[in-house]
Amino acid sequence: MITGKCLCGAVRWKSSEPPIATRACWCRDCQYIGAGSGTVGAAFRTAAFSFTGKTTDYSSVADSGNRMHRRFCPACGTPLFSEAEVRPHLIFVRVGTFDDPELAKPAMTIWTASAPSWACIDEDLPRLEGQPPPAA
Ligand SMILES: [Zn+2]
Ligand SMILES: [Zn+2]
Repeated sequence: MITGKCLCGAVRWKSSEPPIATRACWCRDCQYIGAGSGTVGAAFRTAAFSFTGKTTDYSSVADSGNRMHRRFCPACGTPLFSEAEVRPHLIFVRVGTFDDPELAKPAMTIWTASAPSWACIDEDLPRLEGQPPPAA
């Protein structure tokens, strides 16, 4: 079981399966969420995933053109989950919320074309300038 929570602990999540994909993302939206960095998101199958606690949903259209739902804790503001309406079988979890962040090493960096010149991007990982193909 992989588990995690927001900073204040009001929201807790768990997955009975490991993530199927983990990516660092430098899209412009993620730079807001990452507070100056990109974000790292791990995709879990929603069928194996659950969470408890109240979240607030912010809905918008991403650079990819997909309508996204991004959920955060209304008490502490921690970004938690991201879901695309076109892929309801997947939920992306912000890996800062993992109880063990070592389980969430990214395998790829995406949207590098949107990154600022000073971004720290792992030279050892494959990169994509924009949107990757669907994780599943
Ligand atoms: Zn919280
Ligand atoms: Zn992004």
